[in-house]
Amino acid sequence: MSDHTTKTCTKCSATYPATPEYFHRDRGRYRGGLFSWCKPCSCQSYKDYAKNNPEKVAVRSQQAYRRQQQATLKRRLEKVRGW
Ligand SMILES: [Zn+2]
Repeated sequence: MSDHTTKTCTKCSATYPATPEYFHRDRGRYRGGLFSWCKPCSCQSYKDYAKNNPEKVAVRSQQAYRRQQQATLKRRLEKVRGW
């Protein structure tokens, strides 16, 4: 019964409720759409990754920033058109 409501992190073996509050969302690959690592593990592994690959992370966050800028610009344009 508890199988559907809890999820065990495959990294630290901690069991949490299977909700987006404890596990990052995963786009469609796993059942339930949640990552197999809990949020603290995902954050830690991302930090380690960032420490080991500062250039890649910089490029990625730059791309994310640009995407966000474009989205903001688009929203603004749509707003202007709506007047
Ligand atoms: Zn964990």
